[in-house]
Amino acid sequence: MSQKTTDFSQRLQPQIAAIHPYVPGKPVSELQRELGLQSVVKLASNENPLGCSEQVKQSISAQLTEVARYPDGGCYQLKAALAEFLQLKSSQIAIGNGSNELLELVARVFAGPGDEIVFSQYGFAVYPISAQVVGAKGIEVAAQDYGHDLDAVLAAISDKTKVIYLANANNPTGTYFDKQTWQRFIAQVPSHIIVVLDEAYIEYARSFVEQDRFFDGTDYLSDYANLLVSRTFSKAYGLAALRVGYMAGCEEIIGYINQVREPFNVNQMAQVAALAALNDQTFVAESVKQNFLGMRQLTQAFADLGLDYIPSVGNFICVNVGDDAAKLNQQLLQQGVIVRPVANYGMAGYLRISVGSQIENDFFIDVLKGLLN
Ligand SMILES: *Cc1c(COP(=O)(O)O)cnc(C)c1O
Repeated sequence: MSQKTTDFSQRLQPQIAAIHPYVPGKPVSELQRELGLQSVVKLASNENPLGCSEQVKQSISAQLTEVARYPDGGCYQLKAALAEFLQLKSSQIAIGNGSNELLELVARVFAGPGDEIVFSQYGFAVYPISAQVVGAKGIEVAAQDYGHDLDAVLAAISDKTKVIYLANANNPTGTYFDKQTWQRFIAQVPSHIIVVLDEAYIEYARSFVEQDRFFDGTDYLSDYANLLVSRTFSKAYGLAALRVGYMAGCEEIIGYINQVREPFNVNQMAQVAALAALNDQTFVAESVKQNFLGMRQLTQAFADLGLDYIPSVGNFICVNVGDDAAKLNQQLLQQGVIVRPVANYGMAGYLRISVGSQIENDFFIDVLKGLLN
């Protein structure tokens, strides 16, 4: 019997049809399957080349007996530890299934059809998707030298603006807006508009940015109730597979976010792992140090090859390889190197390279040199 076919596209919420889904880095196992390659180097998803803390592994092992039980929906212990770490109250922190979930929840709480959500050109791909999912209009503000132009962001605010998303450092460009620029900006945003400051790379940024230019968004929460700061355990803490991130803000707004999240949005392994990871700042410091050295390794190689790059304060860097970027990406894949094309960000000539271990970086550099010469 043949099934009756229905064209569900006619029944779809109109804003859903227009969404271009997030394009993730290719998993190592996929490339191995496709090309029968043994050694593959993945420098595509800004993951931590050192892996994660040993204490994280132990904490997960210790939880294996508890798999049949639902997790603590309130993430009590993790929130308490973060509250101490950030010098905030537990009620000012929401935990998410990756910070990605929390970024989307902000849109769900505050915006809908007819509203506007503002973000920057070359901003993180999750922001326009978050706007589209709730039927809000995404307003993309032109960037300046690949970085956020905060004066232009201010100028883009209208009566319909509900949320502004800013990443500092920004992904994929690795650019940073400094403390003075930020202070001028946040003081001018109307106090009823939500500003989401995405600090996914703050641990790395701290190692690159001069002390008087660097700032920590959580220091501004007491002055600005409309500010939300998001962070993740996926990058410097090395827990990308577990999906855990957090958002800090005023009690009222964090309460709304908790109101709309799933009751058990963060699994138990993620909770204990994040707690252990937070408690091992030695591992974070070592990761940041290795990244600093790895970034120098990459930028020196680019300079040797005569390639322009966008200076980055993250654990990744965009290098300009010109018109043949798509082809070069394919050639890199053929030789077992996964990097991230950023044509979907409107940066067709660039490839984004995550900083790997020294050995991984060397492997990539050798393959790149071979392909360019
Ligand atoms: C990687 C990244 C995140 C973190 O995503 P998770 O969902 O926490 O893994 C958030 N924002 C930006 C800009 C990122 O690059």
